[in-house]
This record gives sequence, structure tokens and C-alpha cells, in this order.
Amino acid sequence: QAKRLGGSSFSFYDRSMDGDSRAQIELLAELRQAIERDALQLYFQPKIDARSGQITAAEALLRWNHPSRGVISPAVFIPIAERFGLMRDLGNWVIKAACLQARSWREQGLRMRLAINLSAQQMRQADIVERISTALQENRIQPSLLTCEITESVAMEDTHATQETFRALGDLGVHLSIDDFGTGYSSLAYLRQLPAKELKIDRSFVAEIDTNSSALTMVDAILRLAHALNLRVVAEGVERESQQKWLVKLGCDELQGYLYARPMSSEALLMWAHGEQGGTAPEFRASLFGE
Ligand code: C2E
Ligand code: MG
Ligand code: MG
Ligand code: MG
Repeated sequence: QAKRLGGSSFSFYDRSMDGDSRAQIELLAELRQAIERDALQLYFQPKIDARSGQITAAEALLRWNHPSRGVISPAVFIPIAERFGLMRDLGNWVIKAACLQARSWREQGLRMRLAINLSAQQMRQADIVERISTALQENRIQPSLLTCEITESVAMEDTHATQETFRALGDLGVHLSIDDFGTGYSSLAYLRQLPAKELKIDRSFVAEIDTNSSALTMVDAILRLAHALNLRVVAEGVERESQQKWLVKLGCDELQGYLYARPMSSEALLMWAHGEQGGTAPEFRASLFGE
């Protein structure tokens, strides 16, 4: 039973298991079924170029529409999958589904990068790079068109497996992005060593950039540091025009957030992107960027 439920490190008879854990295990069983039955869905949120307003990439975000509980947030079920050894199956499903979607968009004339998120467990997964490489090949996607987002705290883990995956993904030609940056206290020297191409400023700084001068100072410092290291910078969680104004002024490269688009279905994204890149785009940009 223990083996079926989780990875090698998890014991079903863990003493610390409480009522809460039992609820988690119930959810876990349902999640396993959802993977098997293909009942999960990827949503996509665009990243947009801060200068042109064009879509540059779509970030895949996992959605689970539970039959009785409704949509459950990945912030809830991903930690459970991580804890009980289901992240591997879940993550592999995401890799396949995202690459398949990227191919379909390309066939429909939409060109942009694809971004996926990788968890702590996935970074320790022995065959993760092989999985990604295979999914890219099967869908004839150049590795350089894929971005893998890894949170700063996971990127900082100096376990051999994590750092090895980092290096191997870099070697494959996939772009690496440091997600939720600014909360993990990584050192300058350390950041310089990572083969990353992109840095995403954590939403907590963006949230206060227009109201709190120390948040503004942080964002300014992060941008200078990142640009000195030749990293592109994405601001996540942009919700207001006043935030956008500051980010553009400070030289942020890309923007992402509800101000532009919420995560949406693949069909909706296709329509959104065609709308943006087609006739309505200039007006959209004029209103957002004051062109
Ligand atoms: P993340 O990668 O940092 O993704 C950004 C989160 O912020 C997403 O939440 C997104 O819906 C939300 N967001 C985007 N714009 C705004 C905004 O303007 N305002 C606010 N308040 N929120 C915004 P979501 O989809 O619930 O995902 C939460 C986290 O779960 C992600 O954070 C990521 O770490 C993880 N995650 C999601 N999908 C996957 C996946 O397929 N694989 C892995 N390993 N992790 C995933
Ligand atoms: Mg992300
Ligand atoms: Mg993030
Ligand atoms: Mg986050």
C-alpha cells in the first residue's frame, strides 16, 4: 500500500499522520484517477513584451476540475502530489500535454514560446530531462522554444540531483527561468552560476510597486542585477496600470498578469493571441502603453 501511494520515502504508517493527512490521501487517490482519466486541464497565461505588447510566451498552469469540489488550485494539490510521490506522473502529464498544445498552436499559425513549471521533486526526477527531450522531439519543437520555470527556492537547493538537472536542461537548450524571484535570498554569486535566461519578479513586489517605496527599490535592484547578468526579466501578477507604468519605466522586459489576461483554455488563448496580433492590437497597445 505504501508503495502504491507514494515514493520510496513515504510510509503509509507515518506517526505524524493526522486527520488532515487522511483528507489529503483521499484527494491524492482522486488526483491519481484524474491523471489516468485525462481529467486534468492545462490553462495558459500569456507573457507579453513590455515594449511592443506582443505575446512572447504562454505559461502552462495546471487545472483540476474536481467532480464535486469544483476547480481545485494547483497551490493546493501540487504540494500533496509532491508529498506523496505523485508529482512524477502529474508532471509527466503536463510535459506531454503542453508540448502537444504547442504543436497544435504552431499548426494554427501561432508562434510563441511555451513555458512550463517544474517542481522540487521534478528537478530530482532522474529521467526528467529525457522526458522533456522526448516530448519536444515527438512534437518537433526546438528546445530553445521551451522555458522551464523553477522557483528561486528550488533553484537554490544544492542537492546534486537538482543542480545536475539544471545543467542538463541548459545543455539540452531549454531556457531556464527563476520563478518567484526575490523571496529566496539567493546570493549574487550563486545566481551568476545558474544557466538561467529569465528571471520572474515575485508577485509580492509587483503588488506593492506603486504604493510602497521599498518594493519599488527592490524591483529596481532586481532589474539592474538581472540585466547585468544578461537575464530577461518578467514581472508576474501585474494587475494595475500604475504597476505597469513603473515596470516599463524601470526597464522590465516582459509583463504577465490579470491586467492583460488571466490563465485561459488553449482555445481562448488562440483567439486572444490572434486578436492581439491582428487588427485590434494597435488600439489595445495604445491604451495600455500610451503609444
Ligand atoms: P507560478 O508559476 O508562480 O504561477 C503564477 C500564479 O499566479 C498562477 O496561479 C496564476 O494563475 C497566478 N496569477 C497570474 N497573474 C496573476 C495576477 O495578476 N494576480 C494574481 N493574484 N495572481 C495571478 P496558479 O495557476 O494557481 O498556480 C500556482 C502555482 O502552482 C504556480 O505558481 C506554480 O508554482 C504551480 N503550478 C501550476 N501549474 C503547475 C504545473 O503544471 N507544474 C508544476 N510543477 N507546478 C505548477
Ligand atoms: Mg511559473
Ligand atoms: Mg511565479
Ligand atoms: Mg508563484
